[in-house]
Amino acid sequence: MTDETPILLWLRRDFRLSDHPMLTEAAASGRPVLALFILDAVAEAYGAAPRWRLEQALAAFGPALERCGVPLVLRRGAALAVLRAVIAESGAGAVWWSRDLDPAAIARDTEIKTALKAEGLEARSFDGQVLFAPWEVKTGQGGPYRVYTPYWKAVRGLPVAAPLPAVTALRPGPILRGDSLAALGLGLPMRRGGAIVAKYARVGEAQAQARLDRFLRDGIETYQARRDFLADHATSELSENLAWGEISPRMIWHAGWRAMQEGRAGAETFLKELVWRDFAWHLMYHYPTLARANWRSEWDDFPWAGDSDAAERWRRGQTGEPVVDAAMRELYVTGRMHNRARMIVASYLTKHLLTDWRVGLRWFEDCLIDHDPAANAMGWQWVAGCGPDAAPYFRIFNPASQAEKFDPEGAYRRRWLAEGNRHAPQTALDFFAAVPKSWKLVPGPALPAPLIDLAAGRDRALAAYAARSTKE
Ligand code: FAD
Repeated sequence: MTDETPILLWLRRDFRLSDHPMLTEAAASGRPVLALFILDAVAEAYGAAPRWRLEQALAAFGPALERCGVPLVLRRGAALAVLRAVIAESGAGAVWWSRDLDPAAIARDTEIKTALKAEGLEARSFDGQVLFAPWEVKTGQGGPYRVYTPYWKAVRGLPVAAPLPAVTALRPGPILRGDSLAALGLGLPMRRGGAIVAKYARVGEAQAQARLDRFLRDGIETYQARRDFLADHATSELSENLAWGEISPRMIWHAGWRAMQEGRAGAETFLKELVWRDFAWHLMYHYPTLARANWRSEWDDFPWAGDSDAAERWRRGQTGEPVVDAAMRELYVTGRMHNRARMIVASYLTKHLLTDWRVGLRWFEDCLIDHDPAANAMGWQWVAGCGPDAAPYFRIFNPASQAEKFDPEGAYRRRWLAEGNRHAPQTALDFFAAVPKSWKLVPGPALPAPLIDLAAGRDRALAAYAARSTKE
C-alpha cells in the first residue's frame, strides 16, 4: 500500500469537524480520503425520532465536510457489503471509523474489522465518543465499576487530552455515486412529522458550540441551584448534540474544567453530570444487556405489567396527572424532556402504573432526539429500582409534590397543557397539532380524570415490592 491509497472514512455518529481524532489523522496523513455514511441494520433499528434527527445531522454535516474538500457519500445496505463495494470502486486500502459503543455497533464492527483485515485491508477504529474508554477505568480488583460515586472519584483526576482543532481541509479521493438524503427516507417513520420537532431541535456543530457558549456565559453559575426546575432552561441542553457526535465530550469537559478552575459555581456539578454519560457507557459496555434485561436478576419475577391501555394513556400525555402529562407532551413535541421530568414520568409508569420499565424505555427510544442507548437504559433501570446503583424501589416520586417543588409557579405545566386555558401558548397547542388524528385529541376544558389515585398507586407498588422482598 502506498501513501496514495485512499482511506475510506466511515462516519456513523460523529458528525463534527472539531476534536475528531479520525479526521485529524486523515488530514495529517496527506492521503486521499472518501467519506461514507451507510444506512445499515444498526441505523435502521433506531426509533422514529432518532432516525429523523440523524437525517438532520447528515444534512448539516454533509455540506460542512464538503467545504473541507470531501463529499459525504450516502449508501444503504449491509455495512460490510457496502464497504466492500466502495472499496472495489475506489481502490481504498483502509477503512477508518470512530468507535460506537452501542452493543449492536460493537458486534457489527468487530465482524467487519476481522473480515477486512482477512482481506489484507487496514481497519482502524478511533476514540471520540466518550471521555474515558470503558476498558481503561477499573476498580482496585480490576473489574468494572457498578456504583457511580467511586467511578467519579476514579476518573475525576484522570488526564483528558485537550480537544483537537477543527479539520479544515482533506485531500479528496475518487468521487463516487451515492443516494440522496431524501432517498434514504430517514424521517419517514416519524408520525408527527419533522416540522413540529424541527422548531425545537438545534442541529449541527455550530449550534452545539453556541449551546455550550450560552451555557458557559449564562447558565453554569446557576446550574446547581436551578437544574431541577422544570420550566427553566438551566441546563446545557447538549445531550441532543452529544448523541450525534456534533460536539465532543472532551470539548465540554475542558470548558467545564476551566470554569471550575475559575471557581465558577455549578461547574463541578456540571462535570459530574457529564461523567454520568460516560458511566452509562461504562455500564453498557460491561453489561451489554442493560437495555433489555433487569440489571439485578432478582427483579426478573417482579409483577410488572406489560403494555396496556394505561401505558398508552401515559404515552399520549393523557394520564390526568398534570406534570406527567406535561412532560409526555414536551417529549412528543420537542423530542426532549427535562431530566427531572424524565425521572417523574419513569417513576409514575414503573411504580404508580406498575408497568415494566422496558415499555417506557421503548417509547423514549422512539421519541427522543437525544436518544442515547446507554443513558436511556441506565436512567430507566435506575428509576425502576432494578438497575445498578439504583434509587430504591420504595422511594416513589409523588408527581404532585414534585410539581409543587420543581414547578412552583406552574409555568412548566402551563407551557405544555392547553386544557382549560383559552390563552394556551403555542407549545401546548403544538402537541395537538402533532398527534396523529387517530388519537382523537382536542384541548378540552380539563385534563382527563386521573388514571390512578396517587396514594392508591403508591400503596399498590409498595405491596408488590414487599411481596417480592419477602421472597428473597
Ligand atoms: P445537562 O444537565 O446540561 O448535563 C450535561 C450532559 O451530561 C448531558 O448533555 C448528558 O450528556 C450528561 N448527563 C446529564 N445527566 C445525565 C444522566 N442522568 N445520565 C446520563 N448522562 C447525563 N440522556 C440522554 O442523553 N439520552 C437519553 O436517551 C436519556 N434517557 C434518559 C431516560 C431516563 C428515564 C432518565 C431518568 C434519564 C435519561 N437521560 C438521557 C439522562 C438525562 O435526562 C439527560 O442527559 C439530560 O436531561 C440532558 O439534558 P442536558 O443536556 O441539558 O443535561
